[in-house]
Amino acid sequence: MPETVSPPKPKAPKPTVQPPLPKSNAPDPRQTLSYLRGLMENFRLEPKSKLGQNFLIDLNLVDLIVRAGDLTSADSVLEVGTGTGSLTNKIADWAACVFTVEVDKSFHRMAQTFIGHRLNVVSHLGDALERKNELNPDMLAGWAELTAKFHAKKLKLIANLPYAVATPIITNLLLLPELPIDRMVVMVQWEIAERLRATVGTKDYNSLSVLVQSLCDVETIRKVGPSNFFPRPQVDSGIVMIKPNPEKRAKVGDVVRFRVFLRDLYCHRRKNLRAALIGWPSGRRDKVEVDSKLKDLGIDGGVRAEALDLEQHLRLSNTFG
Ligand code: SAM
Repeated sequence: MPETVSPPKPKAPKPTVQPPLPKSNAPDPRQTLSYLRGLMENFRLEPKSKLGQNFLIDLNLVDLIVRAGDLTSADSVLEVGTGTGSLTNKIADWAACVFTVEVDKSFHRMAQTFIGHRLNVVSHLGDALERKNELNPDMLAGWAELTAKFHAKKLKLIANLPYAVATPIITNLLLLPELPIDRMVVMVQWEIAERLRATVGTKDYNSLSVLVQSLCDVETIRKVGPSNFFPRPQVDSGIVMIKPNPEKRAKVGDVVRFRVFLRDLYCHRRKNLRAALIGWPSGRRDKVEVDSKLKDLGIDGGVRAEALDLEQHLRLSNTFG
């Protein structure tokens, strides 16, 4: 067994609660409420809500996420948000390798105490996103290198995602042509979970629902209340499984073009379809041409985009995209 590394000693005053340290041949530390409180105190850490630092204190839920990942020694996992490293540890037990990314230097450093001995884990300090909306190329390159090193065959995203970056991480990973993701098991804000699986005609159905469901099969695994986290978030969360479906993807064709089309279509949500297509952000269209194309498609221009099902969105994109 690898040797355990002791956490750096805080300067002063002496901590009152010692976090249970991982010992050789001992299971990973149990991430309970009292454990986390002790850990934060010992490492002088104050969870930051703007970074989504809400940590799961229900171990059954951590296990549920890992089980839903259906991990084998063929899997290379990306985890966004190392946090305390407790989910990382569990994933590393089952997968070939884990590339975990943490933006907060203090948490990154602390997590080394618990995952530093793992030979199949690379812990990366950095932002998973670049310019707020694009995936960090260093993260992608590092993950690809680790995957190659372990000859892993399947790529999976398994993460308790920071709320603020969940949507760009999911959508950008889905669109990467060179990284075909096998599945994502992610904890997200419940509002996002609802959007991801919303069906046409419901209030949550929007461009995210259309994009993700046009490429993947989506399943909600569990709704998770605030009391399962420390500190408690303001909102409910949900564990969602997103499985890219190659047949759906083939139907979409150029996925990047489809995404741009959806972004433009939904940029003025209150406009009806006809008005949205005419007043297109990248250049106005001729009214007569729009009317004639809509007629050919058999789509009523008087409705809003969210009244269209997935198939209609696709046909619309093929005609106007
Ligand atoms: N995986 C841990 C768990 O399950 O307990 C922690 C999850 S916590 C919800 C989210 C973590 O993501 C925090 O540690 C936070 O600092 C980190 N984080 C927030 N924004 C990030 C970003 N843009 N890139 C990488 N990590 C980020």
